[in-house]
Amino acid sequence: VFIVIDGIDGAGKSTQVQRLCDSLRTQGFRVTQSREPTDGTWGKMIRNSATTGRLSLEDELRAFVEDRREHVSTLIQPALADGQIVVVDRYFYSTVAYQGIRGADTDALLAEMRTEFPIPDLTLFFDLPVAVALQRISETRGDAPNEFEQEEALTEIRKSFHHMAERCDEVELLDCTPSMDVVAANIASRVDQVLAS
Ligand code: C5P
Repeated sequence: VFIVIDGIDGAGKSTQVQRLCDSLRTQGFRVTQSREPTDGTWGKMIRNSATTGRLSLEDELRAFVEDRREHVSTLIQPALADGQIVVVDRYFYSTVAYQGIRGADTDALLAEMRTEFPIPDLTLFFDLPVAVALQRISETRGDAPNEFEQEEALTEIRKSFHHMAERCDEVELLDCTPSMDVVAANIASRVDQVLAS
């Protein structure tokens, strides 16, 4: 079973991915937990570019796609074939949303991604008002906000996630305004349904 958590910055994705995986493991499931960009060669290059200088849109897109090819072939597909639950923090939806606001053709990109890469059984888009996301970012992060963590950019990114949610059957929006505990319980009940189906 392949589960993806995606959505705008400041919604609490990494915390919830960790909680979900811990809870599934406690229940005895075998879980592969991962994230994009990955910790592989391409993923590291993408993460480093935040400090070493932003790549051009073309190079950035290529790096994300190469990173995902490696991720899918070396980790996601083998784990799924082995019967594990795979939980990934960000996937091709983020590429469409974030590289989209840099000027990529989002509908074409989404179509390409859906052709090349496995479609998750369930994708939850963490959703909350941009003002709340920005407040959480400023409360929880020690470092300065990056170029996406600003009102105008996040508003565009959120719109793009909403647009994809309407077009992709596997995607559901998840309201992340409530407390972490309430959100965790909502995720758990949705995941339980998918595992039972
Ligand atoms: O997943 P995480 O929140 O750590 O991602 C950190 C940053 O990576 C995001 O704020 C966003 O700026 C950037 N990102 C991006 N393009 C993607 C995915 C993430 O620029 N496709």
